[in-house]
Amino acid sequence: EEEKDKYVKGKKVGEGTYANVYIGHHKSDPSNLVAIKKIKVQQEYKEGMAPDAIRELKHLQELSHPNIISLLSVFSSKDQNLNLVLEYLPLGDLEVLIKDIENIHYGAADIKAWMGMLSRAIWFCHENFVLHRDIKPNNLLIAADGEIKLADFGLARSFADPYRVMTSNVITRWYRPPELLFGAKHYSGAVDIWSVGLVFAELVIRNPYLPGDTEIDQIAKICAGIGTPTEENWAGVSKLPEYTVPSPTTPVHGPEHYLGMFGTAGPDGVDLLMKMLILDPRRRITAREVLEHRWWRGEPRATRNEDLPKKG
Ligand code: ADP
Repeated sequence: EEEKDKYVKGKKVGEGTYANVYIGHHKSDPSNLVAIKKIKVQQEYKEGMAPDAIRELKHLQELSHPNIISLLSVFSSKDQNLNLVLEYLPLGDLEVLIKDIENIHYGAADIKAWMGMLSRAIWFCHENFVLHRDIKPNNLLIAADGEIKLADFGLARSFADPYRVMTSNVITRWYRPPELLFGAKHYSGAVDIWSVGLVFAELVIRNPYLPGDTEIDQIAKICAGIGTPTEENWAGVSKLPEYTVPSPTTPVHGPEHYLGMFGTAGPDGVDLLMKMLILDPRRRITAREVLEHRWWRGEPRATRNEDLPKKG
C-alpha cells in the first residue's frame, strides 16, 4: 500500500503562505485524525524535485520527541505537490495566547513551562543535527494536554520558496539572528537559540521585542535593543558579506536594561535571556547549556501542563 492511500483527506482547515492544510484521518481508523499539509511547490521547481524533497523530509519523520510535531508521512500527489501528514493539533499556537491579553492570563511559572518545552525540543533537534531555522510563536502549536509542539521545519518551507523572493514581505524576520542578516554562509544551531531568546522576550512583554519592518530596520532594531555588533564584541563580524550597521553604535546592554524590561522572568531568567541574545553566534549559549541553566531549578517551579492557560 502506498503512503498516500493510507489517509483520507477531508475539508480544508487552514491556509498559510506556503500551504493548504486539510483535516484527514487514517483509512483504517476514522477516529485517528491527522492534518494533511499540502505545500504549494513552485511550478518551475516541480520537475523531479519531489523525490529529493521527500528523501530529505524522511529523516524528520524519525525525529520523535514530545515537543516536536510528529511527521507521520510524506508523499507527493499527482500534481507533484508535497503532502505532509502531521499530528492534528487544532488548539492554536503560542502567538494566539500571547496576543489574547484580554482573556489569557499567564505568569512566570507558565513562561518557564513553555520555555522548558521549547528548549527541550531545540536541544533534541540539535542533538540530531537538525536546525529548525524558523522558530517563532506561530510555529509552536498547542496540544490538548498542554504540551507545546515545535512545527513547520524550515526545510519543508525552503522547497516552497527556493528563491526567497518573498523574504522581505512575507516571512517574518523578527526572529532572525544577526549572522543571517549579515549574510553568513556558514551557520549553526546558534541561529535557533537567537529565535528562542526572542520568543522568551515576547512571552514576557507580550509583544514582539524586535519587530523590524525591513531587513535594514531589523538590524537597526537589534543594534538599539541589544547592542551594535562590532569587531570588539564579535571578532570577524565586519567581514560578513552584508555587514552594515547604523552609526553611532550602541554599546551592548547590560543586565540593568534587561531587568527593567524583562524583570518578571527574575534575575536568573534575565541571565538566560541575555545569553540567548549574545550577538556573536560562537559565544551564544548552546541548547545543552540552556538546559543546564540555574533558572530551571529556581522558584517559581514550571506550571504543570494540565494547569497551563489555554484558549476557549
Ligand atoms: P504556513 O506555515 O504556510 O503559514 P501554517 O502552518 O500556518 O501554514 O498552516 C495554516 C493553518 O492551518 C494554521 O493557521 C492552522 O489553522 C492550520 N494548521 C496547520 N497545521 C496544523 C495541524 N498540525 N493541526 C491542525 N491545524 C493545523
